[in-house]
Amino acid sequence: MINRDSRKPGLRTCVIRLFALLILWAAQAGTAPAAEFEADLAAFPDRVRADIKALARAYPEFVAKVDGGPNGGPVLVMKDGARIPYDDGRPKAYEEKLDTADIEDMLSQPYTVGPLAGGVEVNEDPGRIRNDPFFQAIYGRSAADVRKGLVSVDFCGTRIQFHGTGKAAQALGRVSADLSSLLKAKPDLKEYVFPLGGTFNWRTIEGTRRLSPHSYGVALDLNAAKGAYWRWTGDRKGAVDDKVRRKYPMEIVAAFEKHGFIWGGKWYHFDLMHFEYRPELVFPAGPAS
Ligand SMILES: [Zn+2]
Repeated sequence: MINRDSRKPGLRTCVIRLFALLILWAAQAGTAPAAEFEADLAAFPDRVRADIKALARAYPEFVAKVDGGPNGGPVLVMKDGARIPYDDGRPKAYEEKLDTADIEDMLSQPYTVGPLAGGVEVNEDPGRIRNDPFFQAIYGRSAADVRKGLVSVDFCGTRIQFHGTGKAAQALGRVSADLSSLLKAKPDLKEYVFPLGGTFNWRTIEGTRRLSPHSYGVALDLNAAKGAYWRWTGDRKGAVDDKVRRKYPMEIVAAFEKHGFIWGGKWYHFDLMHFEYRPELVFPAGPAS
């Protein structure tokens, strides 16, 4: 007798096929830019290619493709349709870069992961120059928009709001696991972490009209009393006090950097309490694992 059902895929087969498709999709979403993306980039100089690939690797769900642009310069096209010129062609002083950064400006200062090296050069602030249209295409263009993407994350026993649309909240969860083990082994370090200084807050940076990265729900301040901020230390020029920076426990910094966060303690305009999810700077060539 013929089992009529044997010709149709059973529920189990369907579920297995669905899983296989999901795994394939996830693998594609999380790997290096696709071949056609590489082809679009081929015409551009090495630096442009490296920068755009770093962004595509860090935010594969949001970077769609690269276009030639009206003047032949590369334009980053986001999945939501936003078109962001790589280079606006304007020579800028440092403060202008902060105010109106293009993608080139944003990635002009490489971030060094790991222990502090020598001193920090004047205006060496890797990660402090941000292209807002890029982050707004990912996280939202208003407080209400960003708020919709926030999720609650357990951070070392405290629930905090962080952005869940990309990989920021997941990464923070991994930081939390590592940091919890560290604080258990070295309870003295707790005072650097708690009380937390804050996470999501749609606001401008003090003394400027620029949006803070806290506006996007991807930045976390640890205990402000233990994390000096250049504007609050009495030197409005942002001069570095290397002793202050070097007292900060690098084990805490390492727990963040390992998962794609930069530390404001490495900036000339230092902000020792500040950690920010910026995988394009921490892993420009893609995550190690
Ligand atoms: Zn901060």
